[in-house]
Amino acid sequence: MKRIAILGSTGSIGTQALDVVRRNPHKLRVEALAAGRNVEKLIAQTEEFKPAYAAINDEAGYPQLSRSCNCRTGQGKEAIASLAALEEIDLVLIAVSGAAGIWATYEAIRAGKAVALANKESLVTAGTVIMPLAAESGAMLLPVDSEHSAIFQCIQGEEKSVDKIWITASGGPFRTWNPSQLAAVTPEQALRHPKWRMGPKITVDSATLMNKGLEVIEAHHLFGLSYDRIKVVIHPQSIVHSLVEFRDGSFLGHLGVPDMRIPIQYAFSYPERWDNPAPVLDLLQMGSLDFFPPDKGGFPALELAFAAGGRGGTMPAVLNAANEVAVSHFLNNKIGFLEIAGIVEKVMGIHKVIEAPSLEEIMAADKWARAEAMGYMKG
Ligand code: NDP
Ligand code: MG
Repeated sequence: MKRIAILGSTGSIGTQALDVVRRNPHKLRVEALAAGRNVEKLIAQTEEFKPAYAAINDEAGYPQLSRSCNCRTGQGKEAIASLAALEEIDLVLIAVSGAAGIWATYEAIRAGKAVALANKESLVTAGTVIMPLAAESGAMLLPVDSEHSAIFQCIQGEEKSVDKIWITASGGPFRTWNPSQLAAVTPEQALRHPKWRMGPKITVDSATLMNKGLEVIEAHHLFGLSYDRIKVVIHPQSIVHSLVEFRDGSFLGHLGVPDMRIPIQYAFSYPERWDNPAPVLDLLQMGSLDFFPPDKGGFPALELAFAAGGRGGTMPAVLNAANEVAVSHFLNNKIGFLEIAGIVEKVMGIHKVIEAPSLEEIMAADKWARAEAMGYMKG
């Protein structure tokens, strides 16, 4: 029985993870749950899964949680991060969205837990701190992001023979749109992803291709490859979840239906494989699989991410923070779709990079970038 904590349990990844638990009651036990502000849903989850601990970030929701929940409760960033280090937990799923996930990731890694990492922002901003810490504490990082799970599965035991990795991207809903069409994109259109149903922030990131850019930086840290060995290829069918190119010219790819329960379950079951939680991939009905180079002109976010990753230091944290602010303004109808990358570029352009930053310096750069991005939006 693996004892797990699910942080971000009320979101898209969190609820799919609980579905995996529901299907494997003799293999997984939920010891702790945490959410941002959806107290009703969190309470319903505690009633079903009966964890020993539950925490919420939102102060306003806490009284209701502590009243209704028959377990130990906590509120705020520290309370949530402390769940990640609990003695009685074997594995922590970090499914919190955005840079808010960093603290819990940091604590889980420091405590030497197995960490199923969905929150890509943790590695993007603080990979230079988190990866050495994991090496020190012995924490095992199990990628949940479908592309990284695919690469992790293809690479098993052959890390030394990897030449390149190929990260696939669906291209999002606007893959074939021209710049004047892109300028008029509304939040409703951006929130309709052709292949995946996900939380709002990552769905917009998928439409701008920033999601793919963040995944490139995430892959750089997870697999220890330089940026020239990480390639992005557009694959609209979202069946091949990524590929590894080995030094002998062999490519191994990972195929499956686009359903996040498969990589979530693999992170839970590793090194075993359990029964399929999703619909079966029907190879006979699949038709063709296409691969194209990304359109850099229409989707500058991908290049910005490569530039930020290549520059290193605090620059990826600045890219991520400016993007989070710009995306939330886009979702509130305050800026246009093309302005998202424009704002990120401006903030990156005036950032004075700190080399080999501490976690505190990274968080300070994150805060600075948020304030700068807000400034551009007002002006
Ligand atoms: P959602 O927006 O659906 O869910 C986010 C979760 O985080 C919710 O449970 C939310 O709580 C919680 N949360 C938000 N802010 C805080 C906070 N400050 N403290 C504690 N909890 C908080 O996002 P997704 O599930 O789509 O994504 C989660 C992470 O996984 C992201 O980093 C994303 O990039 C990554 N990911 C997601 C994929 C997907 O298919 N969805 C695929 C690959 C990666 P509440 O709702 O209660 O406010
Ligand atoms: Mg992904």
